[in-house]
Amino acid sequence: MSLKVGLPRALFYHTYYPLWQAFYAALGVETVVSPETNKGILNKGIKCVVDETCLPVKVFFGHVAELCEAGADYLFVPRLVSVEKKAYICPKFMGLPDMLKASRIQQPPLIAPVINFVKVTPLQKILDECAAPFTRNRVKINRAWQKAWQEQKQHEENLRKITPHHDLTILLLGHDYNVYDRYINMDLIKKLQQLGCQVMTAAHIAREERDRQIEKFPRSVFWTYGRNLIGAAYHFMEQPGLKGVIILSSFGCGIDSFIDNFIIRRLTEQKIPHLNVVLDEHTGEGGLNTRLEAFVDIIRWRRDYHQGYVSPHGQYLGSAERNA
Ligand code: SF4
Repeated sequence: MSLKVGLPRALFYHTYYPLWQAFYAALGVETVVSPETNKGILNKGIKCVVDETCLPVKVFFGHVAELCEAGADYLFVPRLVSVEKKAYICPKFMGLPDMLKASRIQQPPLIAPVINFVKVTPLQKILDECAAPFTRNRVKINRAWQKAWQEQKQHEENLRKITPHHDLTILLLGHDYNVYDRYINMDLIKKLQQLGCQVMTAAHIAREERDRQIEKFPRSVFWTYGRNLIGAAYHFMEQPGLKGVIILSSFGCGIDSFIDNFIIRRLTEQKIPHLNVVLDEHTGEGGLNTRLEAFVDIIRWRRDYHQGYVSPHGQYLGSAERNA
């Protein structure tokens, strides 16, 4: 019977799944991915961590519990510190292997290489650790990596393909694990599409363009996530056409609390309609539907009926301004 590596469908999975799936496939190792998030998975996660933990980490623990029950032989949980020079991933990512070991989940051995491109962990060391339970053949490992890297690049290129054919474009800004987890965000992308919107995410904008845009920010941004979002928002602000921005924040996320605030202030200055949706495990779907419909309607009314007295961008519109 072949050994299976469990990949929790949470956190970094939503950004890097083509890479790691292709890597293990090229090594001839079977991977097992936990199902899409559902109520049962979320509840399992909630039971494993303290209340104050952010929602995505609770979800991650639920996926790990699911994989352990499914009989994965190893769990792939890298200690992600940084994926680029001069910027970091959230500290919670660094601590995941320790948090798991301290939890009550009965778990198989972890594959937990340190990935730190600020201190430059040699790539070969990372790959050797990822492959260690299965092979030490470096030719095979490096070939698998080349293939996996191509898969990841292709995936990122595919994500950038967008065919604009709607009157209104919405940029959905948030962590990949909030934007692409349909249970956590209550199928937000589909809801917006049903309202006739073209939906863009940061992944639709080339990394080089986001990096170029972030140079306009007065300070260097410490977090990779913040760099991506601010770069994407700045790019989007320059685009013509009817548009709005939805910012998806996680309740309990320190990074969101200030990065999102920077973006919101800039959008307000630019008079670009925006909506901030904060996700936690108690978010009600009915309330979200109403907010989305109102947001989209207001943007279209402003265009169609010049109804300048409704502000979707947080500006106070007093009677003097209305009558001006
Ligand atoms: S960046 Fe925020 S949401 Fe993501 S793991 Fe860290 S605290 Fe949680």
